[in-house]
Amino acid sequence: MDFTRGMLLEKVLMDGIKEILLIIRVSDEGELYYEYINRVAINRTSLTAEAVGRKLGEVHTSEDFEFFKSNHMKVIYTKQEYSYEDSFISPCGGRYYSQSRLTPLFDENGIVQYIVVLVHDITSEKEAELALKSSNEMLLESRDQFRIIAENSHDLILLISVDGFINFISPSCEELLGIPSNEFEGQHYTVFVHPEEQQLLKDAFRHAVTYKQPLKGKYRMQNSIGMWIWFELHGSPVFNDQGVYSHFVAVSRDITTSHEYENKLKYFAYNDVLADLPNRRLFLNNLTTALSRNDSSEKQVVLLLLDIDDFKLINDRNGHHVGDLVIKEFANRLKQVVNCEEKTVSRLGGDEFAIILPSIGKVEEAELIAKDILRIMRESWMFENRTFHVTTSIGLAVASKKHETNDSLMKKADMALYEAKESGRNSFRLYK
Ligand code: GH3
Ligand code: MG
Repeated sequence: MDFTRGMLLEKVLMDGIKEILLIIRVSDEGELYYEYINRVAINRTSLTAEAVGRKLGEVHTSEDFEFFKSNHMKVIYTKQEYSYEDSFISPCGGRYYSQSRLTPLFDENGIVQYIVVLVHDITSEKEAELALKSSNEMLLESRDQFRIIAENSHDLILLISVDGFINFISPSCEELLGIPSNEFEGQHYTVFVHPEEQQLLKDAFRHAVTYKQPLKGKYRMQNSIGMWIWFELHGSPVFNDQGVYSHFVAVSRDITTSHEYENKLKYFAYNDVLADLPNRRLFLNNLTTALSRNDSSEKQVVLLLLDIDDFKLINDRNGHHVGDLVIKEFANRLKQVVNCEEKTVSRLGGDEFAIILPSIGKVEEAELIAKDILRIMRESWMFENRTFHVTTSIGLAVASKKHETNDSLMKKADMALYEAKESGRNSFRLYK
C-alpha cells in the first residue's frame, strides 16, 4: 500500500524515530495539552495513547506536572529552545536517564503554539559517568583512609617500589627515629638499617615476592642520635590484577623495650647474676657442644670442677653478704685467669664453679691453668676493711675421645675434686 505524504509523516513520527517524541499544544489560555505521543514514548514511559488531547495536569501527578510545566513555561516565555536532564523509572524496570530538548513552534503572531519534546536516552553514558565517579570517589576515599591510618599510626608504614626504593613512609618515622620522612623517600629501604640485618632483609623480601608470601622478621634501624632501635617487621608483596608484583607494604613496630626485656629473660635463664657468669644450664649446653667437637679434633676437652674450701665457715663467721662478696670476687679472679670470650667459666651453684677448656694440646696446659687459679686465689682478699683467706680445690678430667658424655666427664672431674678435698684442700687433682 502506498502512503500519502501525511500518512508517511505520521508513520515516521510514530514508528520511525527511536527516541521519545511528544508534541505539546499550548492553548490560548496557556494550558498544556498532549497533541502527539509516539510509540517509543508509549513503550518506555507511563504515557498511553489515551493521553492525547488531554491536559498534562490530568495525566501526571501534581509533582511531575509542576516540573514539566515550569520547563515548558521557560520555552513559552523565552521563546527559546530549552534542554534539561532527568531520570525516571521506566515501566519496563530500571532507571532511565534522559536529556529532553523542548523546541517551540510559533504561530503567525510569533506566539508559541506547540512545543516539540524530543527525549534522548542517555542512560548508558550516565551509567558510565556514574560508575567512573563512584570508582574515583572510592579511590579518593580509600586514599583518605590510608592517609588517616598512616598519619595516626605509631608503627612505621612503608610502601616500597619494585626496585626497593621507598615511595612512602608514615610520618611516625619522626617520632620513632627522629628522622623526617623526606630523608627516607626515594632511598633504598635498607637505609638506616643495621648492616648485620641488611642482607637478611633483602633475602626475606626476595623470598616473599617469589613465593607470594607475607614476611615477618626483626631488624634494627639507627635513629637520629645513633642509637639502634629494634623493629618487628610484617611485610607483604602486593600484586596487581594481572598478578604482576607492583610494590611492597612493610609495617614495623618498635620492639626495643620488649626486645630488651626478652634479652634480660634470656640472660636470667642462662646466667648467674651474682657471679655474672653462665649458669649450670648454659654450662651443660656448652659442654655438650665442646664434646661434640672433641672426636674430630686433635686437641682435647678438659673439664675443671672447682669448689671453694670451707665456704660454710666464711658464711657462718662473716655473714651471708660477705659470702656473696667472696663468690663475686672468686668469679672475677677466675675470669682473669681463663679466657672468658669462649664463655667457658660457669657457676654451677653454691660455691661450685666449672671451667671447660675446649682445645688443650697437652694436659700439662690444663694443670698450669689450675695452678694459676690456686695462686690467684691465695692472693689477699679484703672486704669491709677485713682480710680473708680463700682457697679452692680443683678436679680435672680429660674427655675421652670415645663416648664421653656430660655426665661421665662430670663424674670423673667430681672424683678428682673429691680427692683434692681429701688431700687437704687448696690443691688440684687430675682424674686418672
Ligand atoms: P668444702 O671445703 O668441703 O667445700 O666445705 P664447704 O664449707 O665449702 O662446704 P660446701 O661446699 O658444701 O658448702 C657450700 C655452702 O655454700 C653451703 C651454702 O650455705 C653456701 N651457699 C650456697 N649458695 C650461696 C650463695 O649464693 N651465697 C652465699 N653466701 N652462700 C651460699
Ligand atoms: Mg665448698
